[in-house]
Amino acid sequence: LTEVDCVFCAIVAGSSPASMLYGDEQVVAFLDIRPVNAGHLLVVPRVHAALLSELAPVIGGRLFQVGMALDQALRCSGVRCDDVNLYLADGAVAGQEVPHVHLHVVPRFRGDGFGLRLPAGYGRRPEREALEEIAGWIRRALGEVEDAR
Ligand code: 5GP
Ligand code: ZN
Repeated sequence: LTEVDCVFCAIVAGSSPASMLYGDEQVVAFLDIRPVNAGHLLVVPRVHAALLSELAPVIGGRLFQVGMALDQALRCSGVRCDDVNLYLADGAVAGQEVPHVHLHVVPRFRGDGFGLRLPAGYGRRPEREALEEIAGWIRRALGEVEDAR
């Protein structure tokens, strides 16, 4: 399934250029055109899905497996890479700009200037009761999600 006007579907189809790193039946990996650091790459499912909720779980699993392999590859590739961030923005409010699922694999080195910005007031520890209440909501929702699968 190819979405018209989707830049990553065009790369998967081979109709748009990319510096390819890997491809199998389920996913491809290529360099990001605006890298945070040299070697910054994306792992992308071949099938079009905007959000993780639209992606088959096995393909999500493959996405992460390939991300793990490329994390290891980056470390011994010659690009500057002391450690690695795996990052996925699931939805626009979470920072997703391209609406086709993609896992960022970002080589990191001390002083590279990259990082997540934390909200004002971060660091406060809620009471256990408050944590448990929220854990209850999420456990219930997870049950429903698993049942629907
Ligand atoms: P997001 O903000 O959606 O998590 O990340 C989108 C990423 O895709 C950005 O890092 C951006 O540089 C990259 N990107 C956008 N368009 C293209 C493209 O046409 N080719 C490649 N290789 N990367 C792209
Ligand atoms: Zn797409």
